[in-house]
Amino acid sequence: MTSVGAEGHAAGVFAYIGIGANLGDPVAQVRDAFVRLARELPDTRLTGRSRLYRNPPMGPPDQPDYVNAVARLQTRLSPRELLHALQAIEQRCGRVRDGQRWGPRLLDLDLLLFGDRELDEPGLAVPHPGAAERDFVVLPLLELAPGLEIPGRGPLEVLARAFDPAALIPVEEPVDEATEVAPRAGAGA
Ligand code: ADP
Ligand code: MG
Repeated sequence: MTSVGAEGHAAGVFAYIGIGANLGDPVAQVRDAFVRLARELPDTRLTGRSRLYRNPPMGPPDQPDYVNAVARLQTRLSPRELLHALQAIEQRCGRVRDGQRWGPRLLDLDLLLFGDRELDEPGLAVPHPGAAERDFVVLPLLELAPGLEIPGRGPLEVLARAFDPAALIPVEEPVDEATEVAPRAGAGA
């Protein structure tokens, strides 16, 4: 039996994407991002998503609330190819890179996790360095993939204990087949 590397598996690797927006109509932009993740990434399927959450902004305080969510992809792209494809979607959504970190943006797509890989390369760190410290990443990830572990950081279930779930406010959403890719945790009887 041969062992296969992370990208070597025919079905691809599970990667998790953090989505954030706080300009324009953030709820619509995050929902649009799910559609784009499903349609605009080569060799990749959207296999799950969390609910959307409202969250007060990090960084400069005079910004509107963020709306955040996470998505799960199954991809045959490399981590670098996936990051570039995510950045291309950000650009198509009108993101302006003005150098202000944590500044307002129409759409932010972060590569949170790529299978169990740990990478620290120029312009690409996986797991995303902020992932384990951010409630708006850990809590939606826990909803989507309760058994998951952040490589090098520990089980989500343990990391989530550091956060107050009440700080994130779920956004009420109509059911929409375009973005309804997987049953939601807690939904249904
Ligand atoms: P942030 O998401 O922290 O607000 P940006 O979206 O402006 O910041 O990203 C800044 C840089 O972070 C990008 O140029 C990108 O190359 C780099 N980067 C490193 N690792 C990752 C990752 N896992 N996901 C997304 N961007 C990353
Ligand atoms: Mg980013």
